[in-house]
Amino acid sequence: MLRDNLIQVNENIAEAAKRSGRDPSDITLIAVSKTKPVSMIEEVYSLGVRDFGENRVQELVGKYDVLPHDIRWHLIGHLQTNKVKYIVDKVYMIHSVDSLKLAEEISREAKKHSVTVNILIEVNVSGEESKFGVSPDELEDLIRKASVLPGIRIRGLMTVAPYVVDSEQNRAIFVKMKQFVVDIIQKNIDNVYMDCLSMGMSGDYIVAVEEGATYVRVGTSIFGERNYK
Ligand SMILES: *Cc1c(COP(=O)(O)O)cnc(C)c1O
Repeated sequence: MLRDNLIQVNENIAEAAKRSGRDPSDITLIAVSKTKPVSMIEEVYSLGVRDFGENRVQELVGKYDVLPHDIRWHLIGHLQTNKVKYIVDKVYMIHSVDSLKLAEEISREAKKHSVTVNILIEVNVSGEESKFGVSPDELEDLIRKASVLPGIRIRGLMTVAPYVVDSEQNRAIFVKMKQFVVDIIQKNIDNVYMDCLSMGMSGDYIVAVEEGATYVRVGTSIFGERNYK
């Protein structure tokens, strides 16, 4: 079942990429394994996936300890500053940086561990109050201030789009995110790369790829529904 799901998702990504004139290899699938057991991750790993996403620090660390170390772990959920120290040397990328305070803490811990951490700035495009992320107005200022911190590399932007029944409803949000990336690139800020755009989940990753996502974060469509009990 996991195998068929994965094949289907990869096919959808490749087709969406081609439709929009993109190279499918420019899009990386992150298998979002939160709440799912190590055995399922091992199965998906054996099918070739190396990028996995978790949204809780404790769960990520637990899985990191028992799984192969060529996995690139992506922390995709809200991160509290007091937990940065547990993951800074274990994650490949932190997708959810939404304050200077958090960027500073990642920088501090990265220096301590002699690592450089890839980060994305999370943007709240829709303005939904329940969502984390900086507002588009605050984006450039945060990027400029974070860009001078040692130990972190700003690789791009991330957003969590609203839950919608029809994925077309999120297209405008993905278009805006791509435009933010283009705008920031034009400002030529030192130490800001902007080669990554993390957007799209099970409900809307196809539209996200059509609009320029380089990372899609897909959980349910690979692993099945989550049970939070
Ligand atoms: C859980 C989660 C996902 C994956 O959601 P699905 O709808 O299961 O694909 C993606 N991004 C973030 C930030 C998440 O927390």
